[in-house]
Amino acid sequence: MTSSLVFEHDDEARQAGCRACGATDLVAFYEVSSVPTQTCVLLDDVAGAAAYPTGDVLLAFCETCGFIENVRFDDRLVDYSVPTEESQAFSPIFKEFSTWLVEELDERYHLRGRSVLEVGCGKGDFLLQLAATGIRHGLGIDPGFLPERARNEEGEVEFIRDWYGARSTHLTADLVTTRHLMEHVHNVAEFLGWLRVSVSATPGSALFTEVPDAGRVLAEGAYWDVYYEHCSYYTLGSLARALRNSGFAVDWLRKGFQDQYLLAGARLGTSDATSLPAEDTPVEVAAMVQTFAAKAEEGRRLWRERIDEVGEDHVAIWGGASKTIAFLAAHGLSRVTVVDINPYKQGKWLPGVAIEVQSPSILMETRPRLVIPMNPIYTTEITADLARMGLDPVVMAV
Ligand SMILES: [Zn+2]
Repeated sequence: MTSSLVFEHDDEARQAGCRACGATDLVAFYEVSSVPTQTCVLLDDVAGAAAYPTGDVLLAFCETCGFIENVRFDDRLVDYSVPTEESQAFSPIFKEFSTWLVEELDERYHLRGRSVLEVGCGKGDFLLQLAATGIRHGLGIDPGFLPERARNEEGEVEFIRDWYGARSTHLTADLVTTRHLMEHVHNVAEFLGWLRVSVSATPGSALFTEVPDAGRVLAEGAYWDVYYEHCSYYTLGSLARALRNSGFAVDWLRKGFQDQYLLAGARLGTSDATSLPAEDTPVEVAAMVQTFAAKAEEGRRLWRERIDEVGEDHVAIWGGASKTIAFLAAHGLSRVTVVDINPYKQGKWLPGVAIEVQSPSILMETRPRLVIPMNPIYTTEITADLARMGLDPVVMAV
């Protein structure tokens, strides 16, 4: 795997065009080659993990709307109907955020007696949580939905195991939600067009969407947050502009989950305000884009030093997910221990890097000297878990 600062691929980026606004003034700024095409897949053996298909990343920034896309993304290389494990519902702090979000949405949209459609509902965890507000009907659609994992005794929530696309736009509800899907969608404008049809089929319907904040990724040089499935990157401003370009009026915008996620509420139509106070401008995003590659390079150097200092065998990564794979691949690590509290991940192998995900209890045997939480938000939770196991390693999140 190689990565570098590039500006010489502008032709390639221009040719691809902005998939959010259609403009062609794209600037390429970050390149990573040969990364696993999927990082949430569960692999049963080391051979399958080692031979996992790879793809290339060339991030480009749209000077017109501020949107960032991987111009080398090929959606044929990604299949979300294979068993994946993206659920974070096993973490108390993530549950706390979900609980807050349910209350927030209930307060804004008065969900009692209303219907909710969740596009890209994953395993259905959030929709089932929303059902507790007294919704009349909930419908989730996702190609990776697993019927045996969802529980809904009352029966007001239904799931469809399928892709949401042009042929699903008849699906509608009082509130249409899509969480952590639009970063996986490469045809952003087309996808938002489908959502507009779904929203327009119910009078007064609203759209709620949630995506990771690329502004944070850029500002921190978080190279472990750049991976193949994430073909689209948004800031508060570019998300709002993408929504407006597709015929939505943005009602509200904010960050959540300790500022890691962007939350937006929209309705059909054009709002009076051209932009909300929280929005950044394309010029502001451009400034962050310009320093990203250098920050990522410096971060890689620092982490390499820290890991070399204790020795790879004495390092444990906490969290067997996309960030972990991107981090391990960027450093060429193969002997670190990887643990995760999600029992569905334990015993499975990470694609590309081919390391087995184990239960955190293995750390009582391996006794790592450095534990790296792949998200700082979980550091307190992880430190407490380590203390319960009688372990006191250095805990340093990325
Ligand atoms: Zn654009």
